[in-house]
Amino acid sequence: MLRLSEIKLPLDHPPEVLPAAIIERLGIPPHDLKSWSVWKRAHDARKKSAILKVYILDVEVADEAAVLARFNDDPHVKPTPDVAYRHVATAPKDQTLRPVVIGAGPCGLFAGLILAEMGFKPIILDRGKVVRERTKDTWELWRKSKLHPESNVQFGEGGAGTFSDGKLYSQIKDPRFLARKVLTEFVAAGAPEEILTEAHPHIGTFRLVTMVEAMREKIEALGGEYRFEHRVVDIELDQGRLRGLRLHTGEVLEADHVVFAIGHSSRDTFQTLYDRGVHIEAKPFSIGFRIEHPQSWIDRALFGPCAGHPDLGAAAYSLSHHCSNGRTVYSFCMCPGGTVVAATSEPGRVVTNGMSQYSRNERNANSGFVVGISPEDYPSDHPLAGIELQRDLETRAYQAGGGDYFAPGQLVGDFLAGRPSTALGEVVPSYKPGVTPTDLAPLMPEYVIAAMREALPVFGRKIPRYDDAQAVLTGVETRSSSPIRMTRGADFQSLNVRGLFPAGEGAGYAGGILSAAVDGIKVAEAVARSMVGDLVA
Ligand code: FAD
Repeated sequence: MLRLSEIKLPLDHPPEVLPAAIIERLGIPPHDLKSWSVWKRAHDARKKSAILKVYILDVEVADEAAVLARFNDDPHVKPTPDVAYRHVATAPKDQTLRPVVIGAGPCGLFAGLILAEMGFKPIILDRGKVVRERTKDTWELWRKSKLHPESNVQFGEGGAGTFSDGKLYSQIKDPRFLARKVLTEFVAAGAPEEILTEAHPHIGTFRLVTMVEAMREKIEALGGEYRFEHRVVDIELDQGRLRGLRLHTGEVLEADHVVFAIGHSSRDTFQTLYDRGVHIEAKPFSIGFRIEHPQSWIDRALFGPCAGHPDLGAAAYSLSHHCSNGRTVYSFCMCPGGTVVAATSEPGRVVTNGMSQYSRNERNANSGFVVGISPEDYPSDHPLAGIELQRDLETRAYQAGGGDYFAPGQLVGDFLAGRPSTALGEVVPSYKPGVTPTDLAPLMPEYVIAAMREALPVFGRKIPRYDDAQAVLTGVETRSSSPIRMTRGADFQSLNVRGLFPAGEGAGYAGGILSAAVDGIKVAEAVARSMVGDLVA
């Protein structure tokens, strides 16, 4: 099989044009083309009047060796790589302790699945509830201003990305095609098949809920066991080796191989691990606001006359600008046709994020409008100082919103002019329970505000109306990624605690659903290797 990349065709091309394009590209007679399939599909909208579809194709030809020899120097004609996933170990019959995975987010789910597939019968603990109950609790915050600190956007089955746009792509290097394993499992759990071929797939929030349930059933069928509403509150150590987990019920679970896939919001657990001496360091993350525009403005700006074309869907953007004060401002977690959501897990704090449905047909586009910060910006050099900063900003946002989890908001025109908003206008913000017009500038460090004011007109030149006076900012966006790293060695174990496997976004090793899931696979493999090695030794 050959892999052909950079096959570009007009947006509206009829299906039969694809095989014709392959034949022409390879210069082979039509009967030499035996079969073909799409590996990835994207679009190139740089020229709005002539948007192109861009394909990567897998092709079977009569004489593969001859074609490869002819295209020896062509980077776009290569043998198709082997993308099959293979397990690295099998659980031994005399396994005594079961591995434990803390966290049922994408990282924990895939760590649990891979361990279960290898026969290790993992126990998966999550402080939050099963996904259907969690959904009700989360909606209570949005509809009735009632926060459930253990069951919300951050905590519970499915993890932080359950109420999201469900974007499933990432920039990670993936020489073993582990992302393919993740996408294949998602399809088996009910995701649309197109996530395998779209270059920028998304699944939206409702599908994620049912997929998470289907994956749970699979893991349980393979011998895994879930325990929801089981919060790990302490760890038991013996000479630098993990021996057990203390749960909030007082129960101690004996365990010597534990995956910590706890996400970026489990601040109490970070504190406990720090207090127990687990190696933790501060790491950079980003802070800012969410920005909302009507999706129709973004579609027109990016797709011109092709806006609304069914093959294109709602337009997405990705922007960044390096500012004169040395800061970088960028768009984060863009949700086309979606809503801004209340994403706090702590009482008296306001945090924004974004989600959308598969259809992406809500009125507004939203994205994080954030500025990169690093440990030098934190209030102290304590490894957990980034959390202190997050809490301070989130508390200020709660107060500026006027309480009841209302978020503070401001029109872009007012933000640029340095005056508070007293009313909102043409763009109706989607955040629930509601948005209070105010001045956002006092909520962020001065260098963040200066960087944003510089970046807005720059982004407006890239996407017309991005800096329109009527666009709305809502604050605050503080949980863009983990403010800490639980550093691990080459064996994926904590630098100073054997048997503790930091994993996923919270540990600082992922930034999104797909990368967290891929990290879960890698960590599960490390756990399996360690368990098999321990038993052999
Ligand atoms: P998490 O998903 O955060 O899971 C951690 C789990 O651990 C939680 O379920 C929590 O309850 C549990 N836990 C924590 N502490 C304990 C404890 N002490 N005891 C027991 N259990 C514990 N990413 C994308 O790629 N695409 C998107 O479209 C996208 N949209 C997002 C929208 C929103 C609203 C949010 C909040 C995030 C979004 N993200 C998105 C980011 C993505 O969700 C995260 O990167 C991803 O979920 C991280 O996975 P994880 O498994 O490492 O951690």
